[in-house]
Amino acid sequence: MSTITRRCWRHLLKTGRTLQQQGALLRHISATLRAEDQMLLIKEQPQQPNSMIFPGIWLRDNCQCAQCFHRDSLSRKPLRWNNFDTKVKVRQVTVDEPRQLVNIIWSDEHCSSFALNWLKDRDFSPKTREDYLSEWYRPASKHWGKDDFVKILKKFDYWDVMRSDDVLMEWLETVAVHGIAMLKNSPLDIGVVKSLANRIGFIRKTTYGEEFSVRSRPGAKNYSYLSEPLPLHTDLPYYEYKPSVTLLHTLEQSRSKGGWNQLVDAFNIADQLRVNHPQHFETLAQTLVNWCDIGMDADKSFHNTWRAPVINLDADGKYTRINHSVPQRDSHFSIDVDKVVPWYEANATFVRMAHEQSVTFKTEPGDVLSFNNLRMLHGRTGYDDTERNVRHIVGGFVDWDIVYSKMRVLKRAAMSCETAEDMVMRA
Ligand SMILES: [Zn+2]
Repeated sequence: MSTITRRCWRHLLKTGRTLQQQGALLRHISATLRAEDQMLLIKEQPQQPNSMIFPGIWLRDNCQCAQCFHRDSLSRKPLRWNNFDTKVKVRQVTVDEPRQLVNIIWSDEHCSSFALNWLKDRDFSPKTREDYLSEWYRPASKHWGKDDFVKILKKFDYWDVMRSDDVLMEWLETVAVHGIAMLKNSPLDIGVVKSLANRIGFIRKTTYGEEFSVRSRPGAKNYSYLSEPLPLHTDLPYYEYKPSVTLLHTLEQSRSKGGWNQLVDAFNIADQLRVNHPQHFETLAQTLVNWCDIGMDADKSFHNTWRAPVINLDADGKYTRINHSVPQRDSHFSIDVDKVVPWYEANATFVRMAHEQSVTFKTEPGDVLSFNNLRMLHGRTGYDDTERNVRHIVGGFVDWDIVYSKMRVLKRAAMSCETAEDMVMRA
């Protein structure tokens, strides 16, 4: 079995799909239209207990013919939408089982053909929708507390990540699910963060450049460039588009007692707050806080400010982002005066709980700590920096859009090689 074949099999095992399911022919198909609500029901007998279900209007919108769909760009043609008729009806539906097609003639004489496997992937039943989201949208995050840290911290060899798509995928998935992963044995070379970013896609540039060096600097303009303790925080909360995945490469580590990393899963803290202090949770999810950073780096002045709550939720109530940084919280606080005290009480509780749940560890030269900056709070204990005892970290960011895109590209590549393998096996 070749390396590629082994990779495909491992991928198949992970996604729970078998070769038979991948390109399987659908047999004994019935397609019926529910006239009252224009729902198309497709059933495979006797394999499927329930019908696949498709709204007529969605089928029309997603017609795959050359007039409606541009195959080279895999995009719907926009001009069809200038006069989109929401009242168009399915006049006739037939199944062409030998060619695995469902054919529709519409009330305005337009004709559409849909491949059965294409439909099967897009069925509106809850299970198919969930399967699609977990496989192709984003892996579900698993939140963890202090006691789980040893269990969830996965370590990968830097060179394995650079050379193997399999290991690259596993590393990125780990950061997506647990919020953190460690790479070991990277070269003590200033370009490591950039090389990793390029391996994924590209680096995210910020006010502090593409890569930034964290080492004690006399007269530093940013708090993290001092050797003082740096309490738990997220990076760049003052950006609307906050950089998402942080890579911190240890080039030199202080031999002093300090310089320990601190880390906590703030999604887990938010979970606890939601259950134990629901009022505080509401306050932190609803109060807009002003975050800011004003200064100069590499001769360029900047004035960054963004208003957002500490706990940010999407329409489903899932966490999208945590903001916390004591130095970078603005003294301007543009909220109603009677909301100030409740916010301070809620935030003090949140920070206390975060400190109680934080883990500490000390990275070694060659380590690259990678974590989700929208989720984890990180910090470090103070250290003594002298000429013979220095700490030098190079950091950089990659955005989640770029990371998730790479994960899907890797997955698709694994699936197409598995399809090729399937064909070889059948031949
Ligand atoms: Zn069409």
